[in-house]
Amino acid sequence: MAEQEDDRYEVVIVRYGTRRTMRSEVYLNYGVYGDGDAPIDMDYFVWVVRNAHRVILVDTGYSIEGGASRGRTPLMTPVDAWRHLGIDLDSELTVVLSHAHYDHAGNLAALPKARIVVSESEVDFWLGPLARRAQFHHSADADGLTELAKARKQGRVKTFSGAVTVAPGVEVLEVGGHTPGQAIVRVETPAGPVLLASDSVHYYEELEADMPFTYVADLPRMYRTFDLISGLVATGQITHLVAGHDPSTLERFPAYDGVPGGLAAIIGRLSQ
Ligand SMILES: [Zn+2]
Repeated sequence: MAEQEDDRYEVVIVRYGTRRTMRSEVYLNYGVYGDGDAPIDMDYFVWVVRNAHRVILVDTGYSIEGGASRGRTPLMTPVDAWRHLGIDLDSELTVVLSHAHYDHAGNLAALPKARIVVSESEVDFWLGPLARRAQFHHSADADGLTELAKARKQGRVKTFSGAVTVAPGVEVLEVGGHTPGQAIVRVETPAGPVLLASDSVHYYEELEADMPFTYVADLPRMYRTFDLISGLVATGQITHLVAGHDPSTLERFPAYDGVPGGLAAIIGRLSQ
């Protein structure tokens, strides 16, 4: 990858887990829509942003224990997926945490030197007292938060408010809504700008049908983020929108064999 520009990346999407649930379990106050209930799958992803100059992990998935304790079906651990992608887990790579839920911020112990970028409001909330209340606590993983606190003590957590450019061509924007400091990640790729929406948009239907997700810290902000993202797509500032948990995600983008088992897709592939 010798002659690449510094500020464009390929985005690898890895599907590492799945589960079947019901629409009434994933959409907030589903009864208001007057639709019948039905099963719906929820997939779990981690994302890798990379070029010849740097590797940025976006979210770190759930740990084996974090998934097992909730009855999730693991397809491959994120750690194994990163190894298949040739990522040196002991290097000083950058990790962006979109938010601190168990399925996005586990496995930090496997990344002992990583520099972790997360919004200040998110890390303050989850390491603070309100995170222990039942409605929040069930979405977090105590071990994961302990690792995050440890990394912060070690000076490896870099917080931001509003927006931050973590590298040329990679911008992280705090939007809130789903969690107090939920963030989205905009990446420049050869295929155009990509938005890793993470849990600001779990399902494409969530955005298209304007149906907020069931777990929400701030509903007005969640709706405003729908408007923000719809606007970015409508104006061409985003050409590829990657939802956080949608089972159709891998079908929407070119398959990538860098991870075995048909578990990955790639946007803006760079030549090797
Ligand atoms: Zn999630």
